Amino acid sequence: MIVCKFGGTSVQDAEAMTRLAQIIHARIKQQPVVVASAMGKTTNQLLEVAQTAAKGKRQEALDLLTKIKEKHLKEAQKLGIAVTEDWVAEAISAYFKEMRDLVKGLAALRELTPRVMDAMASYGERLSTAILTQVLENNGMPAQLMDARQCIVTDDNFTRAGILFDLTDAAVAEHLKPVIKAGKIPVFQGFIGRTTGGSTTTIGRGGSDYSAAIVGAALDADDIQIWTDVDGIMTTDPRMVKEARRIKSISFNEAAELAYFGAKVLHPATIIPAVRKKIPVHVLNSYKPDQEGTIITDEAPPCENPVKAIAFKSGITVVNVASTRMLMAYGFLNKIFEIFAHYKVPVDVVATSEVSVSLTVDETSELWDIVTELKKVGEVNVEGSKSIVCCVGDNLKNIPGVPHIAFSALQDLKIQMISQGASAINITFVIDDERLPEAVRGLHDAFFKKVDPLIFE
Ligand code: ADP
Ligand code: ASP
Ligand code: MG
Repeated sequence: MIVCKFGGTSVQDAEAMTRLAQIIHARIKQQPVVVASAMGKTTNQLLEVAQTAAKGKRQEALDLLTKIKEKHLKEAQKLGIAVTEDWVAEAISAYFKEMRDLVKGLAALRELTPRVMDAMASYGERLSTAILTQVLENNGMPAQLMDARQCIVTDDNFTRAGILFDLTDAAVAEHLKPVIKAGKIPVFQGFIGRTTGGSTTTIGRGGSDYSAAIVGAALDADDIQIWTDVDGIMTTDPRMVKEARRIKSISFNEAAELAYFGAKVLHPATIIPAVRKKIPVHVLNSYKPDQEGTIITDEAPPCENPVKAIAFKSGITVVNVASTRMLMAYGFLNKIFEIFAHYKVPVDVVATSEVSVSLTVDETSELWDIVTELKKVGEVNVEGSKSIVCCVGDNLKNIPGVPHIAFSALQDLKIQMISQGASAINITFVIDDERLPEAVRGLHDAFFKKVDPLIFE
């Protein structure tokens, strides 16, 4: 049994859904489970509808919603799914009616809570999977639409809910297994879940990859396939460096590090359930289904290049905390991290000296509260508009001279922080946002002048 996850572009319109049906048809003997994202940019649009409504712009929000509905109906129609009588059309209408009610409520209350954001966002995946189920049926495959909220049980941390694995594993066994046993292809929404109390949640932006891995692990799948719009995991984001190469094979640790430091191709949490069950993960291009993509495996295969890929994140904030009072005192770092932990804000990169600590954070919604607390520990200064650039490779451990190559590539830039990860498979720099493209291109040129043909294409 395999789990095949299709991202937004891979279900964005009738053509993409038809390609998807062909991909699934070719894998029918492997008992595929389909996990799908919302069509194209639907999630962003739905959240925009909610925000517009909460500002009191009721009509504007309803108009936006109508546009989203028309797009879904148009693609469904192109796929030969009738608009007036078909169950899919009925489901689409019912969902949009519910959303219109939500919009009216939001416009009246003028308050948008994370709970309502999740309720709204969930319709994206519910719509796409309803259409997809019928597409598979129309292409001669027995498909069954599932409600992921029956299976993915989460806490109530709305917009980035945590998975309750024991409950989820049991629910997957109860609801999904019988469908597969009956010879059907379950069509499952990525990204959404439900609390034990029954509220709809989402598990974080880009979370459909994670959903696929959760389902794959719960089902002991043979393979988790992440179908997307690029050839696999590449040496860097091809939107930034068009010469980026496909990586044929990469380890779970390397992929986790890349995902964590911004390679959007894979949600950072995807790896965890897959590693737990040692299930291989493939990243594949839904536009070119015959290509081999990238395989993520337990061990890093030997590679002549020290760096396998470069990830980056922009819009990062650096927080510096200095305290001469704390000189040589123990507990200084502990106090600082406790403050971040209290606000549930993850820290990405850390560099320390005897009297100061610099940290980076991605999220700034709680930053001013955090800074107020930090000021009790030392002098605080905050700098925004920074970027993290992270070179990842299992071979960094073994090949000397890597910092030299990196520093040469970055010699014209002001480097604000450097960290060589504890795992010894990454070296990370923090620079100004505006210098990011030149840094990534420089590093890419320096590390991938020559590539090991066994690992890179
Ligand atoms: P999906 O909708 O299929 O989940 P995403 O947009 O979330 O797709 O992720 C795919 C995108 O990730 C690519 O279009 C690419 O621009 C970006 N990306 C960033 N880093 C990498 C990388 N190292 N390799 C491949 N793609 C990357
Ligand atoms: N549709 C969700 C998002 O846009 C989840 C996903 O695509 O993985 O974030
Ligand atoms: Mg994604």
